[in-house]
Amino acid sequence: MKEAIARFIRDARRVMVITHVSPDGDAIGSLLGLGRALRWLGKEYTLACADPVPRRFTYLPGSEAIVTGPEPVLSGSTEASTVSSAEPLAEVPAEVGEYDLVISLDCGDLERMGAAYDESLAGLSLINVDHHVTNTHFGTINWIDTRAASTAEMVLDLAESLRVPLDSDMALCLLNGIVTDTRGFRIPNTPLRTMRAVLKLMEAGAQLPEVTDHVFNRRPFSDICLWAKALNGIQLDGRIIWSQITRTMRQECAFSEDGAAGLVSFLGTADEADVAIVFIEKDDGGIRVEMRSVPGVDVSAVALNLGGGGHPQAAGCTLDGNLNEAQEKVLTTVKEAIKGQVRRL
Ligand code: AMP
Ligand code: MN
Ligand code: MN
Repeated sequence: MKEAIARFIRDARRVMVITHVSPDGDAIGSLLGLGRALRWLGKEYTLACADPVPRRFTYLPGSEAIVTGPEPVLSGSTEASTVSSAEPLAEVPAEVGEYDLVISLDCGDLERMGAAYDESLAGLSLINVDHHVTNTHFGTINWIDTRAASTAEMVLDLAESLRVPLDSDMALCLLNGIVTDTRGFRIPNTPLRTMRAVLKLMEAGAQLPEVTDHVFNRRPFSDICLWAKALNGIQLDGRIIWSQITRTMRQECAFSEDGAAGLVSFLGTADEADVAIVFIEKDDGGIRVEMRSVPGVDVSAVALNLGGGGHPQAAGCTLDGNLNEAQEKVLTTVKEAIKGQVRRL
């Protein structure tokens, strides 16, 4: 599979790489990591995401070149590039119609690419590289490795197949993906192969403390303000702990993104709960639902049933309607789904 994808990439001239809406550290890290590989191969490419790069990931080299929305901007060079961390990415404007390959990273289904997957791209070969158990195999080629802890480590594998040397910038971006998706190596059973990938990335010059510092040790006051408001409204319903974030709370805290700043993972640390849920009232209507569960209890199937997806212990979906409707629907569905499931740790 990986070899077939490497062949597609070698044969392509202009590549559109897209990651998912509301990007996380794996989305941005794997996007930038693959971008460095394409650049080294001398490809022209666009790195696209329908939503802006969250502020805590703007430290990653090249993040400013990520295109938000469907507008086409090609980066890279038609000449073979050399690996250099100091060199800025050249931008070469081009028409959308000039792409010959699309690669989707960390997306469980086609809709996760949002507006970045413009209809003009629909006729092109689409390579789907992902690690979600709920992946719908929407690509022309689907490389879905549910045993990978992150898409970033799959990109590392792919770069090796393409014989692209690993430079410290690429390594930093990919390490950011692994560290965020494993929550700093705290998810149960972080595979040994993930740790081997970490070792390679660190040997290539990626600094683990730099990543953990940006991802876990620093946060703007607005995040803490939002947590304070949301924690005020926590509920423990059986073995489900949940809370909500309203538009007003975000405005009061000057919180600009539509997520919950990692609150759901914190709620998931409650001894008394097997499932943690945060309901987020989105700016554009609809409710984003973030879910976490303990090992032995699966939230990915619930998320899939509700039109979303994810991993057994971390999943999500977006629902129409208001907060009350979403809460009623999700809580009922989760209670039913976890009946008979038993925590393993
Ligand atoms: P989050 O709770 O947003 O951190 O997401 C947890 C996991 O579920 C991530 O791996 C996401 O890719 C996946 N996920 C979240 N929301 C959705 C959605 N609306 N559709 C499909 N997958 C989702
Ligand atoms: Mn992701
Ligand atoms: Mn991921």
